[in-house]
Amino acid sequence: MQEKGTISIHTENIFPIIKKFLYSDHEIFLRELVSNAVDATQKIKRLSSLGQFNGELGELMIDVAVDKDARTITVSDKGIGMTAEEIKKYINQIAFSGATEFMEKFKEANDANEIIGRFGLGFYSAFMVADKVEIQTLSYQQGAEAARWICDGSTEFEISEGNRLQRGTDIILYINEENSEFLEEYRLQQILDKYCRFLPVPVRFGTKSKSVQDGEDEEGKPKYKSVEVDNIVNNTTPLWTKTPTDLKDEDYLSFYRELYPMAEDPLFWIHLNVDYPFNLTGILYFPRVKNELELQRNKIQLYSRQVFITDEVKDIVPEFLMLLHGVIDSPDIPLNVSRSFLQADSNVKKINSYITRKVADKLNELFKNDRKAYEEKWNDIGLFVKYGMISDEKFDEKARDFALLKNTKGEFFTLEEYKEKVKDNQTDKEGNLVYLYASEVAKQDSFIQAAEKKGYDVLVMDGPLDTHFIGHVERKAEKLTLKRVDADVPAKLIEKEGKIEDVLTEEQRNAIKDVFSKAVNKPNMQVELEPHQADEMAVTVTMDEFMRRMKDMAKMGGPYSFYGSMPDNYKVVVNSNHKLISKILDTPDEAQKEQLARQAFDLALLSQGMLTGSDLTAFVSRSMELI
Ligand code: ADP
Repeated sequence: MQEKGTISIHTENIFPIIKKFLYSDHEIFLRELVSNAVDATQKIKRLSSLGQFNGELGELMIDVAVDKDARTITVSDKGIGMTAEEIKKYINQIAFSGATEFMEKFKEANDANEIIGRFGLGFYSAFMVADKVEIQTLSYQQGAEAARWICDGSTEFEISEGNRLQRGTDIILYINEENSEFLEEYRLQQILDKYCRFLPVPVRFGTKSKSVQDGEDEEGKPKYKSVEVDNIVNNTTPLWTKTPTDLKDEDYLSFYRELYPMAEDPLFWIHLNVDYPFNLTGILYFPRVKNELELQRNKIQLYSRQVFITDEVKDIVPEFLMLLHGVIDSPDIPLNVSRSFLQADSNVKKINSYITRKVADKLNELFKNDRKAYEEKWNDIGLFVKYGMISDEKFDEKARDFALLKNTKGEFFTLEEYKEKVKDNQTDKEGNLVYLYASEVAKQDSFIQAAEKKGYDVLVMDGPLDTHFIGHVERKAEKLTLKRVDADVPAKLIEKEGKIEDVLTEEQRNAIKDVFSKAVNKPNMQVELEPHQADEMAVTVTMDEFMRRMKDMAKMGGPYSFYGSMPDNYKVVVNSNHKLISKILDTPDEAQKEQLARQAFDLALLSQGMLTGSDLTAFVSRSMELI
């Protein structure tokens, strides 16, 4: 029996196209062939369990072998095999609706995944790396004859009798010159590690040496020898395929270490498991993030029936969860369509909201079950929660139950609890609630103390996302403003009813303003005289909340960047009711007046960590003289 024929497509030759356009992703040929072998193996298992195949299943394994001299890579399975008829049907009549469509579509296709999946070209991806591909196969069906198919990459193929004696299929690739890299063992190992690490059928790739005990020496110490053992590249039952109730914390931790050997243990994890209305399993880990630099995206791996597809899960996982680690496995994610299509896909939307809900539920559960432990982790968790609230409306709603605010005393409050706590004392005369916060506790200590003296509470907002988070909290509430403690003099941070009389006359005020203007003498510092309580600070340097926020935003780039080039404008508030001011007025000598003002101003700068350079040096020597 020998038959020659033409692969039924209408175009001259699609292989040059495959080679040319799928250039960047050559390595996936192995994923495609091994996946086909897995499918064939699982089919025979299923037939056996259904009683439709009664022969011996044998050790169901897939072998990948490389022969450098012959320049071949062979992928062998013990699956269902194919008859010659089946080869004609499944291999020759390429499973896409016509070459014309292909020719039109490949122009838009961006990567190999897109073309291969969309047009069922899995098997043909072999021609990306091979000049010639041979199939040796024997069907499981009773009385089937071994068949051989060979094709050199043109549309001509040949079918003849095969030489396989056992059920299953060998796919033999004759690797071409440009793709010699794939004849290197380490390269194949690398590809297998990437795509086949968790396939459900054992994949064997050559052998590796292992040290085993070999008796004892004269002193009774164990002796070792090196033996060759099968190199099985995959773990066929990765953790996410198991039932959550059967698993212990240690299982999740060791799986995490298997995935990310260099990372610190995660904070906690979520085992995903749905089968309706879409199919999805997986485990998401919350990593411990020590600093912003560790914020790494693309740490979630996407699988489809245990075949690795990609670690670019953008558009599949909600944006704010991109910082999580772990694995998602779903056959329902359309992997083979363009990104824009993906966003509109209804399964992807459902998956997105499912994951968001699961994450929110988990956080809520942690919070409810052990609030103290949750608070201790807040520094790490907070980043995700805040990011989620800012970027995802639905998550924001849920997160109101477990998002925390921390104050300078180290106490934690939910948004609702905090409102209750401060609303009596921190509502201004217009009825606006004012939350105060510090972004650098050490530097803003004098302001924090002054605010606390007034009975105000001060939040700590020193995280990388807090600038955005502050704006978000304000937007989501009515009549609420957040102010940094140094945005104004303490007395004016939260303006209350009642006016404080000024002890100075108009004339005295002008005189003092003059003295201070001369003493300060900086173009970006505006002196203002305000009557406050006598025990408030004499001189305070403040920056307007709005201006400062804009500048903070500018540092992060984007539309606010232009604020970055504006000078830092400060207000120097002089408390006209402070007794130092009267003392300055009473000082007869002009130079001495100015010196006192300068000293008071420098002290204000000093208390805010703003006194540096020659100003600091001058201050020190002036202080020495005064002593
Ligand atoms: P797909 O896997 O998407 O159907 P392929 O081009 O990879 O597309 O394969 C086409 C068909 O060839 C498969 O559906 C299967 O019927 C058959 N086939 C491929 N490889 C094997 C194999 N190792 N054993 C049995 N059948 C196979």
